Amino acid sequence: MSTQDLFREDAQLRDCAATLLRVDERGLLLDRTVFYPQGGGQAGDAGTLTLADGREIRIVDTRKGEDGEILHLAAPELSLEGLVVGSPVTARIDWERRHAHMRFHTATHLLCALVPHPVDGCSITAGYARLDFHMTDALDKDALTAGIARLVAGAHPVGHSWISDEELDANPGLVRSMSVQPPRGSGRVRLLKIEGVDLQPCGGTHVANTAEIGAVVVTKIEKKSARTRRVVLGFAP
Ligand SMILES: [Zn+2]
Repeated sequence: MSTQDLFREDAQLRDCAATLLRVDERGLLLDRTVFYPQGGGQAGDAGTLTLADGREIRIVDTRKGEDGEILHLAAPELSLEGLVVGSPVTARIDWERRHAHMRFHTATHLLCALVPHPVDGCSITAGYARLDFHMTDALDKDALTAGIARLVAGAHPVGHSWISDEELDANPGLVRSMSVQPPRGSGRVRLLKIEGVDLQPCGGTHVANTAEIGAVVVTKIEKKSARTRRVVLGFAP
């Protein structure tokens, strides 16, 4: 049974009412959720599920299950006895942590615009983000930090749209303007657009405007292999 993924349309949602559908060792399954499951390099959300009697279940991570299920992983020390399938819950994410994911995630899109090379690895946490570029040239840490600051100050709106595989095929110019080839086969593709900056298929959560990213800096550039340059982002101290 798939979970309705509310964060896909509105990443700013912090909580939602939902119904508990299943409780087992895989995790807690809800009919709908604001919790983003680990994927696309972005860490899964943490937060709480509040039961009708006020009891709080602490959620430490979120993962994808089978068939579009989103599984909420409860803190291991918690007893899940007495949880009744079919009962209402309020699902609430740890917003500070998620907003850090959103700021870093959107910043990685800015990096993609600044470094026109294919990406072959990505990791986004609340403390840092890293992006691996398939390239051999050297990168300048200070120049990239300045480039990100310029795009943040530019206050570019961030939005998304859905297009079908057919629409994509009918607009070959679209694919050329994207830095990542869209995944085909599921029938529709989610395009993330930062106006005037970046356009690419992405299912993650992003801020609504680049100004919301704030002070993000390049903390490290590493030569991971002969053909890979790793860029690490952090929040300015
Ligand atoms: Zn993205």
